[in-house]
Amino acid sequence: MKYQKPKGTRDLFGKELKRIESLCSSARDFFARYGYEEIRTPTFEHADLFIRSIGAHTDIVEKENYTFEIDKRTLMLRPEGTASTLRALIENRVPLPARLLYIGAMFRKEKPQKGRFREFIQVGTELIGEGAPFYDAEMIFQGKKFMDFLQARQIRVELNSIGCPECRADFKKTLRAYLEEFENAICADCKRRLDKNFLRIFDCKNARCQEIYDSAPKITDSLCEDCNAHYHQVKSFLKVFDVEFHENKKLVRGLDYYTRTVFEFKHGSLGSQDTILAGGRYDILMKELGGQDTPALGWAMGVDRLLIAMPDELPPIQDPKRFFIAVMGETYLNQGLELRNTILEHNFVCIIGNPCENIKKQFKDANRQKAEYVIVYGENEAEQGIYTVKNMTTGVQELIARDNFPAFLKGVK
Ligand code: ATP
Ligand code: MG
Repeated sequence: MKYQKPKGTRDLFGKELKRIESLCSSARDFFARYGYEEIRTPTFEHADLFIRSIGAHTDIVEKENYTFEIDKRTLMLRPEGTASTLRALIENRVPLPARLLYIGAMFRKEKPQKGRFREFIQVGTELIGEGAPFYDAEMIFQGKKFMDFLQARQIRVELNSIGCPECRADFKKTLRAYLEEFENAICADCKRRLDKNFLRIFDCKNARCQEIYDSAPKITDSLCEDCNAHYHQVKSFLKVFDVEFHENKKLVRGLDYYTRTVFEFKHGSLGSQDTILAGGRYDILMKELGGQDTPALGWAMGVDRLLIAMPDELPPIQDPKRFFIAVMGETYLNQGLELRNTILEHNFVCIIGNPCENIKKQFKDANRQKAEYVIVYGENEAEQGIYTVKNMTTGVQELIARDNFPAFLKGVK
């Protein structure tokens, strides 16, 4: 084969594409009712935007990004949606608070595996301009509601608070002191993280490291008074919203911009790629990107991963029935086109054959197009005011008077 798609990408068509489309449009409609309006930002941005927001020492910026240079500018394919959304809000002076939803492809140069691609689709919501703990709980509630709407079972909501830069400065010292005796036991990546992005050690995939961190002090136990109060209120609102959650003190998230509340929705069937939806609060990001000092929060859901996790749980996609019209000669084409309009108005698929072909060829074409009904219209039908309708599944052919045709269509399920 001469050309193959790049590693980690997919060709989407047929059922899989329909599922993805249907999931994206359900999300759009669902969150519109909670007041979220869609935003579409460019697929690439100036690389600095992502480096500044996600953090220079994160996996995404260190090794997972697609960066290229055009006209002496360094651009990056977007690896996530939050930075672009905030940039757009600031640049377009959108009034706050704002509830925004995005849907689109994201790009990360990761090792492809089940549920992990180099181009993947995220749906995300962002609430910019609200700092109260009520909103953290409400956003988690909305995400959970959407999972319920999709009938996703086995969803586990994990929650943590990673405090603000102030809590972290103190905690860094406590953690370093504890880890001194394990200096040679933790992996090289964690050693590096300790210097550059220390909270990330808790996200390490190495089992030995995790064992050490199990009994290490946790940021959640070192929160400042305000962050602690915030976290407690988030939890008590979640109880009011009746969302079951599990506290996970090792949950830290992979991007630098998070503050206070972080959360992940996990699904049992995915092995190590088990996070379907993830997010949190990012109160320092707007200012970091040159906007007003504005609290904000959001989450992103991996659409592809969601589909892999629950293929049997989603309601089946109902494809509309497929009709094929075999017009027997150009003379009858106008009536054939009228007939097609009637069929389309009933929301069926309708393909019209080439009227210059003979009936055998048109039936062959109808089969190729997977038509479930073929309607023949020619001299005989025109004279008698009828249509010849063949049910391709049963093989039964009947003559239907033109006047009775709408009633026939109503009966097609
Ligand atoms: P992970 O720990 O799985 O790498 P992450 O922390 O990098 O996740 P986020 O940046 O928070 O993930 O993205 C939110 C969601 O987007 C994830 O929970 C996941 O469902 C989805 N996602 C992230 N990276 C990929 C990918 N490479 N392929 C498919 N889906 C992805
Ligand atoms: Mg990742």
